Amino acid sequence: MRLKVLVAFFLVFALLSVMIPRVQSGVFDPFHTKDEKTAMWKELWSSHPGTEYFSVGKYYDGSEMLMFVAGNRTGGRVLWDAEMHGNEDKGGEILFLLAQWLLESNDSVARSILEQNYVMFLPMVNNQAVRGNNDTSISSFGVDLNRNFEVGWQKSNPADDTYSGQNPLSEPETRVMRSIFAAYQPTFYVNLHCGAGPYAAFYKGGDVALSESVKNRTSQICEESGIVPYRTSSFGSNGYSIGDAAQLGVQSTWLIETVGEATAWRHLPENYDALVNTYYPKCRAIFVAMCELASPTDQAAKVVFINQNPASNLVRSQNNVAVQATVTPSATGIKSVTLHYASNGVDQAEVGMMKIGENVWEGSIPAFSQSTSVKYSIIVEDNGGNIVSSEATIESPSYTVLFDPQTPTPSPVRTVEPSPIPTLRPVQTAPPSSPTNDPTSPPKQEPTSAPLEKTDSSYSLQQIYPVIAVISVALVALSSFLFIRKQKRKA
Ligand SMILES: [Zn+2]
Repeated sequence: MRLKVLVAFFLVFALLSVMIPRVQSGVFDPFHTKDEKTAMWKELWSSHPGTEYFSVGKYYDGSEMLMFVAGNRTGGRVLWDAEMHGNEDKGGEILFLLAQWLLESNDSVARSILEQNYVMFLPMVNNQAVRGNNDTSISSFGVDLNRNFEVGWQKSNPADDTYSGQNPLSEPETRVMRSIFAAYQPTFYVNLHCGAGPYAAFYKGGDVALSESVKNRTSQICEESGIVPYRTSSFGSNGYSIGDAAQLGVQSTWLIETVGEATAWRHLPENYDALVNTYYPKCRAIFVAMCELASPTDQAAKVVFINQNPASNLVRSQNNVAVQATVTPSATGIKSVTLHYASNGVDQAEVGMMKIGENVWEGSIPAFSQSTSVKYSIIVEDNGGNIVSSEATIESPSYTVLFDPQTPTPSPVRTVEPSPIPTLRPVQTAPPSSPTNDPTSPPKQEPTSAPLEKTDSSYSLQQIYPVIAVISVALVALSSFLFIRKQKRKA
């Protein structure tokens, strides 16, 4: 009899030993910490050639905000972010599911998006695990980044968890976001939240007709797949990112409160199924609709490749060296391509380049002596007034092999400078939003308490194992004692 108890006990112990590490590693608790998520994004991107990620600026704590891009640079641009409120981690989980589907599903819709669109993801606008940006030097909650944008900014009390900052754009994160809107000019921008929903809302001050098209197309996609779409409305801006995005030229800007059930603020494992099966498909339908509607003709996208020609393609003479570049035109067409060059750090001249073939442009620079470091840049302006450039430095040119023929390198699309803040377009007056109708304006709309962090709700192995060990030893000792006593009695 006691033997059975002992066996049962050891079975339970063995089961616990197997389960606890699984819970810890995310099998039963699939939500991730900020660090885990960053690692996941980097790993996903690193395993897919042709994608890239890079820093777009710094958080208030000085670390780098990363943007992950994929697809066709000349395609329709769609930008989605998450975790502008640092504790709304589920938005980030949904964005990751979306990215995974895009890069790894091999779904024909995903493949088509990668061919037709330039997709930009900012998984973590706020790198803190609290709602605000945790800058407690001015407010105990830090600054609520989605109250710190310029359009509709309102002064508020530093004691509020929705504190809007000392001035509009006082926070580095909001300035970085504006530089992204201005530099990349996506057709669509989505700001993902979770807690006060579920619903989707587009900004009234943007291109309402285009936003309505997204809504209609999303309904169709949902109907075809048996998904219930998000309730969709529109609202204004009280210092929200969607207001500034529209002000800076993004045509259709959205805020999605992905979830909103009472338990959404806790990292409860059982919610992950709802996230994957209910809310992520709703978001994906909107994403797909936007990708379809973001026509390349709306874009100023273009790429410059410096054509690092084999030496044999270079025109060489006593006095000059030809520089050729391949320029992929934007939708509006190329206005000018100019070549700037400097030798040993001193600017020399700026010359126009001539189109010598389909997308191939050529200019010439004088032959410098072999000890000269020649730096040149090719600057392209399109008819939409957008400028991109690409530059290269040639140390001590020998003119026998001026360029490395094997490694043509694409230039960055555009360098994003987080500061200074780009010149503003005339402010589009946002229709005044009524605080009572605006789903996100009441400061207390979203629960104010920080969600339980994963580390709070699941004990670490280091904490659990000693406890289990002690209990085990105690139980083994007790069982053995009872067993021996019974044997003695029998005896
Ligand atoms: Zn939020």
